Amino acid sequence: MDDFSNNIMVQNYVTYLNFISGKLEKFFEKQKPYIFCKKGCGKCCKNAQFPYTLIEINYLMSGVVKLDKSTQEIIEQNIEKIMQDKAVFEGEKFRYDCPFLIDNVCCVYDYRGLVCRSFGLMQNEENGKVKVPFCCFEGLNYSNVMDDEGKKVSPEKFKKLGVKEEPAAFNISYEFLTDPDFERGFNFKFGERKPLIEWFIAEDDVS
Ligand code: SF4
Ligand code: SF4
Repeated sequence: MDDFSNNIMVQNYVTYLNFISGKLEKFFEKQKPYIFCKKGCGKCCKNAQFPYTLIEINYLMSGVVKLDKSTQEIIEQNIEKIMQDKAVFEGEKFRYDCPFLIDNVCCVYDYRGLVCRSFGLMQNEENGKVKVPFCCFEGLNYSNVMDDEGKKVSPEKFKKLGVKEEPAAFNISYEFLTDPDFERGFNFKFGERKPLIEWFIAEDDVS
């Protein structure tokens, strides 16, 4: 595992990351009455694909190299196990638990990607619809204001909560967060995008 932290592109990406994370943190803060995220939840780190661009994976790896040897070994074992499952998988979309989730805690939290930082808020979609995080249907984020069908915010439940800030959706799609305008503004390139696990497929394995 190489150390990418001195790479100038990564440094510029970190400037962007601080900017966008600041915005996301403000959104989470505003939505506090509806957010049930806590350390050890980790449900959103499981059974998914986790899109990652090249710059994000480089940054994440700059955190991995700082971990102790035994944690790095656990990560390597997790990746190996996922690869084995992937090799025998026959469906269309291979989903897996993130290899960096250890005992339900992210071991590279400060270095995590954009999808990890934005998940949990309600999201505005291009078709004008609102995407609700799946954990709402497991009694977590926004579950205290969602109607019984889980389709829209219930005005009655909102009123009952007696909080000032209304539940809101934000423009936080992965497409938006990786928009080329950010590359131009902060002088870096996101680079190729693929599911997190695919960054660990050795070139020899690609036929
Ligand atoms: S977004 Fe949902 S699943 Fe993820 S940590 Fe927060 S409450 Fe848990
Ligand atoms: S990198 Fe961390 S926050 Fe992101 S999916 Fe993996 S364990 Fe979760």
